Amino acid sequence: MSTALPNLKSLTSIALKEQIALWGVEGYRYDQLYQWIYQKDIEDFDQITNLSKDLKIKLKENFVLERWEPSQIQTSQDGTKKFLFKLNDQESVESVLIPNGPRQTLCISSQVGCAMACSFCLTGRLGLTRNLSHFEIVEQVMAVRRYVASEVRISNIVFMGMGEPMHNLKNVLEALRFLENERGLNFSKNKITVSTCGLVPQMLEFGKQSQVKLAISLTGTTDEQRNPLIPINRRYPLETLMEACRQYPLPGRGRITFEYTLLKDINDSLEDAARLKKLLYQIPAKVNLIPFNEYPGAIYQRTSEARMLAFQKYLLDRGLQTNIRHSRGLDILGACGQLKAAMEPKRTLK
Ligand code: SF4
Repeated sequence: MSTALPNLKSLTSIALKEQIALWGVEGYRYDQLYQWIYQKDIEDFDQITNLSKDLKIKLKENFVLERWEPSQIQTSQDGTKKFLFKLNDQESVESVLIPNGPRQTLCISSQVGCAMACSFCLTGRLGLTRNLSHFEIVEQVMAVRRYVASEVRISNIVFMGMGEPMHNLKNVLEALRFLENERGLNFSKNKITVSTCGLVPQMLEFGKQSQVKLAISLTGTTDEQRNPLIPINRRYPLETLMEACRQYPLPGRGRITFEYTLLKDINDSLEDAARLKKLLYQIPAKVNLIPFNEYPGAIYQRTSEARMLAFQKYLLDRGLQTNIRHSRGLDILGACGQLKAAMEPKRTLK
């Protein structure tokens, strides 16, 4: 993938506009070029039919268009597909395409590894290597779209793969501009969800700058319980996090999704369900219960189906929308909290 000329897709949308202006080209040409790159997904500048020869020469002399191909694809018995991408520095990331009826949800990564060290998550045990650039986030979507184009259309994007998106806020926000732009990948803001484990200041900043949906990985109902599960809770405890959720700007009738990974004998009692209901008081919320996905070396166990249903019933009976998110792609380690790409353990958050 490495080349002498820079990748045009590495430019931010503002930098691309400035580059076009620098060449003295009319502003509307920017929209046309943008559309060719992101919507029509050209391989080569010569494929452009409505820009001048002169501009195409300038583009060719100064830039290339980097396009990824997955270096490995695994398909689960349930149809879930896990894509491994090798990056230019030989690091790697994973994206997972999850079919669910007419819906095709692509789960993408925002970092190589993760610094948050959540103890129930395989990625969290590997530590953080680096942030992904906005290009590396967007290209996961473009590469998977290219690969599955003849069969299906990606309908939803979730930032729930490797990494904590709020820990790479600038690049995630820039990637969202490309994903949402109608001349770009054209995803509606209601079809994109960004998840956080509770980096409160960044989350509030995100709420000011983006209107896509927010999910919070909660997974604990007291600080004592949540601290070892999601260590960032020591810095931003539940009271702070819940207050931030109350302040969070939700467009229209939007709600925050609270992800709750059920861990046997840790956080799956009816007392937990009662505390969870109380915590979400006055927050427009829905709850996704996630059965824990075991992986080699995991220190937690999966909650029984009966306990999970009882937990759900408790919340439903009290008017809280609560779904059980049955795991997909378990046999290919493609389910929630199981992504690790080809990584070795690195640093963790202290
Ligand atoms: S659950 Fe998310 S935030 Fe926590 S370690 Fe895993 S990838 Fe990072």
